[in-house]
Amino acid sequence: MIDPFGRTIDYLRLSVTDRCNERCLYCMPEGYKGWAQRQDHLTTDEIIRAVEGATRLGFRKFRITGGEPLIRKDIVEILERIWALPGVQTLGLSTNASRLSKLAPAIRRAGVRSLNVSLDALDPALYHRITGGDLSTILEGIEAARRENFEIIKLNCVLMRGINETEFVPLIRFATERGMPLRFIELMPLASTAAINATHLLSVEELMERLAAQGTLQRRAGYQPGHGPARYYEYTAPGLTAPATLGFIGAMTTPHFCETCNKLRLTADGKLRPCLGRVGEIDLLQALRAGADPAEILRTAIAQKPENHEFLDNYQPSRPMTAIGG
Ligand code: SAM
Ligand code: SF4
Repeated sequence: MIDPFGRTIDYLRLSVTDRCNERCLYCMPEGYKGWAQRQDHLTTDEIIRAVEGATRLGFRKFRITGGEPLIRKDIVEILERIWALPGVQTLGLSTNASRLSKLAPAIRRAGVRSLNVSLDALDPALYHRITGGDLSTILEGIEAARRENFEIIKLNCVLMRGINETEFVPLIRFATERGMPLRFIELMPLASTAAINATHLLSVEELMERLAAQGTLQRRAGYQPGHGPARYYEYTAPGLTAPATLGFIGAMTTPHFCETCNKLRLTADGKLRPCLGRVGEIDLLQALRAGADPAEILRTAIAQKPENHEFLDNYQPSRPMTAIGG
């Protein structure tokens, strides 16, 4: 499917829950209580109907997210059934790694090829401050995943000025020693939280300048693992045992960022979101429950994809990132 701006849309990111066992400063407002009711969550069968409809429309790439997808009880069944559908070419999952120690073998067997793991700090106290979680559990989860033969495990870091801005140094070393790509994501105004303000936004450009002062960044033009929006570079610097693979997702500051957008999002409560940075949504849940063909609703959502996000245009989040799906 081609959207009104000539972009091929073949990537669906599905949130399977808005709940999470962490509470990252930039994702979930303190005391957040806006959880969707259980009956408003897409059931497993509804998720499968949505994905099947998407494959008929030409979607080929699927990523499961949340909230924290691994806290949904039937997550393995959901993954197995998606992977069994004809037309599904790639299946990825985004996670905070807290449950990977237990679930890595099962999700790999279920068909997941690519994992994205959030990791914002390697200092345990700072990790706890940002996420509320326990770093040692996360590191055990990452090691458990490394023992399975995933095609790729990428690390994601939201670098925030004045909070974890110096963590890029140990994170790059950690990722390099394990042969993992590490991506830096600019802080986006996706929730009303104290951490999200202009003073904490650290642009990828500034980060790249800091990196270039200590080493060499070289663009890896053809490298695009996982179909996401990152631009990848190889980074060499004194003290690194091997070149690092670094990705930069500059949604806030990179000119023409939206030109390569290839995705739709489906929230856990069944709303199609044509653009992360615009509040408009289309109700797929009600349409499914009324017996509509999900492919038609997806077609409508593609037709409504805007040219650009409006993060820089006084964007006001209607719901936080945990309830949209990252
Ligand atoms: N719980 C899983 C995790 O943490 O990876 C999956 C869901 S999480 C919402 C997906 C991604 O969104 C994470 O990499 C997280 O860092 C990112 N994210 C959440 N809020 C963000 C924000 N305000 N700005 C930038 N990235 C954000
Ligand atoms: Fe949970 Fe992921 Fe949001 Fe953190 S970023 S609160 S781990 S959903």
